[in-house]
Amino acid sequence: MSGIYEVVIIGSGPAGHPARLYSHRANMKPLLFVGNQPGGQLTITTEVENYPGFREAILGPDLMERMRDQAARFGTEFVTAAVDRVDLSKRPFTSWAEDRAYHSMALIIAAGASARLLGLESETKHMGFGVSACATCDGFFFRDKRVIVVGGGDTAMEDAIFLTRFSPDVTVVHRRDALRASKIMQERAFKNPRIRFIWDSEVVEILGNDDKRVRGVTLRNVKTRALTEHAIDGVFVAIGHKPNTDFLRGQLPMDERGYLKIEPGTARTPIPGVFASGDVADPSYRQAVTAAGSGCMAAMDAERWLEHEKHHGAPHPSPDQDATILKEPTQSTSVEPA
Ligand code: NDP
Repeated sequence: MSGIYEVVIIGSGPAGHPARLYSHRANMKPLLFVGNQPGGQLTITTEVENYPGFREAILGPDLMERMRDQAARFGTEFVTAAVDRVDLSKRPFTSWAEDRAYHSMALIIAAGASARLLGLESETKHMGFGVSACATCDGFFFRDKRVIVVGGGDTAMEDAIFLTRFSPDVTVVHRRDALRASKIMQERAFKNPRIRFIWDSEVVEILGNDDKRVRGVTLRNVKTRALTEHAIDGVFVAIGHKPNTDFLRGQLPMDERGYLKIEPGTARTPIPGVFASGDVADPSYRQAVTAAGSGCMAAMDAERWLEHEKHHGAPHPSPDQDATILKEPTQSTSVEPA
């Protein structure tokens, strides 16, 4: 065993960066796994109006850059890979990324969530050719084209409003006759003359041309079962997210949707020394501000747990035994510039 970190943080979104900041300030010198989507889901949103401290709206990517830079002031060891496997059955815990093992006494899981898809074969076929799960990434390609947004939540409203910057014809397709989105987002969408709604309907097929480009969709009215075809050029799927916890299956208790179970009011999972923060353990709030708060909680819980273990727990491997608690960066990882 080459070395053991005091704490490893998996994830670099609004939960991971505060966890890292608080870990640093507790002198834990964490190792952070950046993951497949550095900065998390906020990097694919537009304006964030509900994060405290900003008089005006701030762009999601800007907010994440600030969080990253704020924590980077302390210098962090980080790995630009995603953890794909862990062993939490014994301490130190082991996390694997790209076939390399990393050991830690405490683990903070802040891996976030990913966009859900409809699960249609035609959706997979046309993904990237007119089907997208990220309006802010791909909206630009639909200038003067007709698009639909599937979903009835805040993301769907935000995406629909954003897409009207490019498209004069945005249709929201929702499976019920009432939106789930917050009242303010509903009002903004209803007021926008470029947005119309098709209610009680689901997409059953995405129609395409030979070159894979989308030419339309078949919708089914869930009440009448009637099928209708609609000519459109793009489909934006905005039907929510799923927690990124597949790599933890069999290692940590989770609910049927994949959310990690934590002790209420803490970041503690049922495995001592393993903590969860942000969307991986939050089926109800899922906000940047709640993720940030829970990242702070995870680091503080980890620090307290490590301290308690030092005095009352089973003996840990220590520098004078067969392993080293790493405090300084190793060659295999990088340190973010201040
Ligand atoms: P939500 O879970 O809130 O909404 C998902 C929507 O997709 C629902 O309307 C749901 O329908 C619909 N849906 C789910 N599965 C399917 C399916 N298979 N086929 C068709 N429709 C489906 O997710 P969001 O991503 O919109 O929001 C997540 C969280 O993030 C929320 O808490 C939200 O408030 C927040 N958020 C806040 C923003 C802001 O404040 N600016 C912006 C974006 C998100 P049904 O209603 O019938 O369940």
